[in-house]
Amino acid sequence: MNSVNDLYRQVIMEHYRSPRNKGLVSDSGYICLRLKNPSCGDDITVQAKVENGRVAAIRHEGTGCSICCSSASVMSEVLKGKTIQEAKDIIADYYNLIKGEKVKDEEALDEAIAYQGVANFPARVKCATISWRAMGAILEGQTGEQDVEE
Ligand code: ZN
Repeated sequence: MNSVNDLYRQVIMEHYRSPRNKGLVSDSGYICLRLKNPSCGDDITVQAKVENGRVAAIRHEGTGCSICCSSASVMSEVLKGKTIQEAKDIIADYYNLIKGEKVKDEEALDEAIAYQGVANFPARVKCATISWRAMGAILEGQTGEQDVEE
């Protein structure tokens, strides 16, 4: 295990133990979407508030494995404050990272870069992307409840 992998693992475990922006709020200004991953039992609800073309706030709640829960926390931190287009670009880049493909803007991914190792574990791809997919769907105007598609 080299030091970079250790650092990444620390980021993931730290967000798992102390998730940021966790807990849903009852505020009609938030768009809400629940995504479930039947193969792993991950069940995540993401709430986002968009104001003046920016992601003003993100909340998340749910149960799942450490990759799933920690990545929801990281996602909420990385995308908060971004414009809708910036957020969409970062989400697309995160999928590149998880697929082991070339990333366009490593800096914009910030702590999400810690999940690059997931590319070596195809079974965990859904876990690492479920909250990001939920956020992407919200930015496309979707709400409600969905299962993660294959
Ligand atoms: Zn999972």
